[in-house]
Amino acid sequence: MSARTRDRVIDAVGELADEVVDFTSELVRIPTVNPPGEHYVDCARAIGDRLASFGMEVEYHEAEGRPEHTREHPRVNVVGTREGSRPNPRVHLNGHFDVVPVGDGWTLDPFGGEVRDGKIYGRGVCDMKAGIAAAVYAVEAIRRAGVKLVGSVEVSGTVDEESGGYAGMGYLADIGRVARGRTDAVIIPEPLNVDRICIGHRGTWWFEVTTHGHIAHGSMPFLGTSAIEHMGAVLETIRTDLIPSFQKRRTEVPVVPDAARYATLNVNAVHGGQPAGDVQSPCVADRCTATFDRRFLLEEGFEATRQEIVDLLDEVAGRVPDFRYAMKDLMIIEPVRTPDDASVVGALGSAIAGVLGREAELVASPGSYDHKHVYRKAGIDNCVAYGPGILELAHQPDEWCSIDDLVNATRVLALSILDLAGVEGD
Ligand SMILES: [Zn+2]
Repeated sequence: MSARTRDRVIDAVGELADEVVDFTSELVRIPTVNPPGEHYVDCARAIGDRLASFGMEVEYHEAEGRPEHTREHPRVNVVGTREGSRPNPRVHLNGHFDVVPVGDGWTLDPFGGEVRDGKIYGRGVCDMKAGIAAAVYAVEAIRRAGVKLVGSVEVSGTVDEESGGYAGMGYLADIGRVARGRTDAVIIPEPLNVDRICIGHRGTWWFEVTTHGHIAHGSMPFLGTSAIEHMGAVLETIRTDLIPSFQKRRTEVPVVPDAARYATLNVNAVHGGQPAGDVQSPCVADRCTATFDRRFLLEEGFEATRQEIVDLLDEVAGRVPDFRYAMKDLMIIEPVRTPDDASVVGALGSAIAGVLGREAELVASPGSYDHKHVYRKAGIDNCVAYGPGILELAHQPDEWCSIDDLVNATRVLALSILDLAGVEGD
């Protein structure tokens, strides 16, 4: 694109800065807490109305057929489109508008949308209502600058990312609204500190192990088999054999923070014997269940990751008398990595250099986000996350986003759209 076009769009974002801030505050004031998924209709409408007022075609997609889409908590997604001279390239900006529950420790109104000392405060401002506002205004700045795109641009606001995104971005992918062949590039403005491009995430495997013992009188435990003791043997083997081996497995994918570049395993829950707090009777526990959260590396792969746990359980079974277990997969999310030569990476990289005067850092996320649906369900590998706000502030009390970062991220997104969609007569 020409320097003149670029400067006009950068200036247009500057002129819209107050509106971007106001719109971010407006979105924060809608308490879209998930779970359970409150005020989704109001928020989808607020985004849709804004996109419509900017002359975009707006559609609403309710997640029909999804069990979480209920009368009480409807799952509604919104998509705005500005068609270019040609349908493609088609650039899609996607933000989730659900936010996690407030939690303790706030010193101001989590849903006040307060602006103070160059920052906007509130639950979900950084993760990721500022990102949605940046996407909406990046597209609008191009229009205000009088620049016509060759290709088309879309902005979506979707639900439920914090609970897996199946009724949100997953649904748009399921119905083919975002799909390979139709959609050429996807940018997800999650909070990435304004100068980092997120090219994917590790894999996630949630699984459950149940050990089965043999009930007996608690005064004669030698007559029974304790499922809790057997789970203890499993946990001890994980702690002493498996976890130390993770330190030798470091992924080439640039996951941040650095400690998350390794395989990890967290024990989410352990339940065994009689429920705590109830009146107890003297019994040997015949059942113990533990839930595990294993984050695996692209280099490890899912099959080997799963087999390693099966082997570990079989090894315990070989040395602990009467050890019996069952294992169940709860959730499997494959790792994602954007190819190095993806055009979104190049476009955002040059836009970041142009706006901020520094080189973009490529990172990957320790956890997963809606990228997985774009990659796995929609089949689009030209996808990254990039947006305003500091990743570490997500889900924290007194969450905030700096106005400077918000405005600069809007500029970066606008320039990237120009690059990816192409400019008429430039
Ligand atoms: Zn998020």
